[in-house]
Amino acid sequence: MKITVVGAGQMGNGIAHVFAQGGHQVTLVDIAQSSLDKALATIAKNMDRQVAKGTLAEADKEAAIKRITTSTDTAAGVQHAELVVEAATENIDLKLKIFKDIDAHAPQGCILATNTSSISITKIAAATGRPAQVIGMHFMNPVPVMKLVEVIRGYNTSNAVTSTVMELSRAIGKVPVEVHDYAGFVANRILMPMINEAVETLFQGVGGVEEIDTVMKLGMAHPMGPLQLADFIGLDTCLAILRVLHEGFGQPKYAPCPLLVQMVTAGKLGVKSGEGFYTYSPGSKDLVVAPAFAR
Ligand code: NAD
Repeated sequence: MKITVVGAGQMGNGIAHVFAQGGHQVTLVDIAQSSLDKALATIAKNMDRQVAKGTLAEADKEAAIKRITTSTDTAAGVQHAELVVEAATENIDLKLKIFKDIDAHAPQGCILATNTSSISITKIAAATGRPAQVIGMHFMNPVPVMKLVEVIRGYNTSNAVTSTVMELSRAIGKVPVEVHDYAGFVANRILMPMINEAVETLFQGVGGVEEIDTVMKLGMAHPMGPLQLADFIGLDTCLAILRVLHEGFGQPKYAPCPLLVQMVTAGKLGVKSGEGFYTYSPGSKDLVVAPAFAR
């Protein structure tokens, strides 16, 4: 299948990786050439890790990488696509604009999927002339490792499109789960209030960063504490999702913690900016609490 991935950030590179490894022809599109360069380097590095582990043959890696081409032009990048998966920044106005653009240039039968974490599929579909062909395909981070794909049906998504996307997900080794289109779907409806509560617990001084994460790791058998997970997802993305939940349900329980808002305003976005609740330096695996929270 000819697949175009729009947005080559941390999710887009993983989505391109799994489709190329699954034998599909992939065009990776981003407005920033630097994101495309970084994405190709990340894909090569992650595939090397699979080769070292013995889960991918060197020849299959080479072939998969050859199946990926890049472009900074969305119109040209989608013109032959059978499936587009959009994975650009979590911002409603941006996504509506991108979908209008994709709809104008992708072939008629092309399925338009979005990797949005929380934005209404129905609203995105309404920006296009083909709402029956618009669907949510919510991969988890890191995409090559995580098995789940949350498949979200918008109000108008057809059964045929849903079946194609479920089947395609299975064919690349993922486990798709079909859910309906309400703010946050299932994954983030449950995860984000937990992360927000962890930030609130820190904000109120009930526990420090390490204490909160250790309680959740050892007490609840979570592989990662909620504050570390928030850093990993991106604090800007967490904030954007909480705002969608807050607006979508109108309930105060979804209001983002002021500390989270403050950190995003200050540019502390987690792993991608080098600092969030912890600090991150390239090549280091040590988890060091950020100076603002050191005790
Ligand atoms: P990111 O910030 O790492 O990457 C976003 C990319 O989109 C950037 O490379 C940026 O240059 C590009 N972009 C911005 N405007 C664009 C445009 N008009 N056309 C093409 N590219 C454009 O973000 P991310 O973490 O990869 O998130 C992408 C999407 O995936 C969001 O909708 C997010 O909610 C969702 N998502 C994120 C996670 C996560 O853990 N980070 C998990 C699941 C889903």
